Amino acid sequence: MAILVTGGAGYIGSHTIAALQERGEEVIVVDNLQQGHKEALLGGKLYVGDLRDEDFLDEVFKENDIDAVIHFAANSLVGESMKSPGKYYHNNVYGTLCLLEKMNEHGTRKIVFSSTAATYGEPENVPIDEYDRTLPTNTYGETKLAMEKMMKWYDTAHNIKSISLRYFNAAGAHESGQIGEDHHPETHLIPIVLEVALGKRPHISVFGDDYKTPDGTCVRDYVHVSDLADAHVLAVDKLLSGAESAIYNLGNGTGFSVKEVIDIARSVTVKEIKAVIEPRREGDPATLVASSERARNELGWNPRRSRLEDIIKSAWRWHEANPNGYKKND
Ligand code: UDP
Repeated sequence: MAILVTGGAGYIGSHTIAALQERGEEVIVVDNLQQGHKEALLGGKLYVGDLRDEDFLDEVFKENDIDAVIHFAANSLVGESMKSPGKYYHNNVYGTLCLLEKMNEHGTRKIVFSSTAATYGEPENVPIDEYDRTLPTNTYGETKLAMEKMMKWYDTAHNIKSISLRYFNAAGAHESGQIGEDHHPETHLIPIVLEVALGKRPHISVFGDDYKTPDGTCVRDYVHVSDLADAHVLAVDKLLSGAESAIYNLGNGTGFSVKEVIDIARSVTVKEIKAVIEPRREGDPATLVASSERARNELGWNPRRSRLEDIIKSAWRWHEANPNGYKKND
């Protein structure tokens, strides 16, 4: 009776494992450690390997009695996905295909999937709900949408039930201070802003200030990574109690512009944080804000760490204590 977490050594995966450990679940982790960090694992039995390696994945399923899978393993950078679509289709889409095939072969019929607001593209309505149009503006979002659709057809054909969680912008760090965000290269707004505060970068580049938003910079819905982790645990419970497949947005329902994020970071860190306006980044929609009513009503999800100031405080605590991420400080 175990839960397999793919990509468990990554940012959201490691926080989800922490939440599963708190409940005393048996956790099996698969990670190729290309982006993930062994040190981020607060528990679980780690298998280092790739979902696309059939023999490897077969071993994992043979050696463990897996009830449900939480699937994070994927590449997730918008900018990179626009430059290297092949990498994204191969790892994300083909990797998921390999996983679903193995699940079917071994009789594991529940999967919680790490999806994204990038599946919507430029939204028709704000806040966005799960019935809104999905028309991704970048390859990353397109591959995640393809993965969601693949799961739908594996349900039809093989009764594999899935819950896809479309997160908005994950941020923050675990309250223990032991795990947090550490990407190489870092491309996300909040960690980069905090690296400027730490003196590791001279300034933050603001990608575009001519969007149709109140201050011209992009608006996003930031959600604490531990609140996201909680939603995965609730989704596993729901599937194991016999629920049908579903898709849920996960966000706080409040948008903050890039400029607002920088201002809040200035007040949290009490540092200057120089900002320089630069051209737009390819593939970025102007505004992404979630309606998470469905997750609240059907999953019983209640994001408890929803104030952006507190989210940034928790991230700052991690970055200040670990300026080199998981790499030991010399
Ligand atoms: N952003 C920015 N400068 C940076 C990184 C990000 O202006 O160095 C902007 C980006 O254009 C987007 C927002 O910050 O509008 C959030 O970007 P991030 O990469 O954190 O998450 P995404 O929305 O792409 O998932």
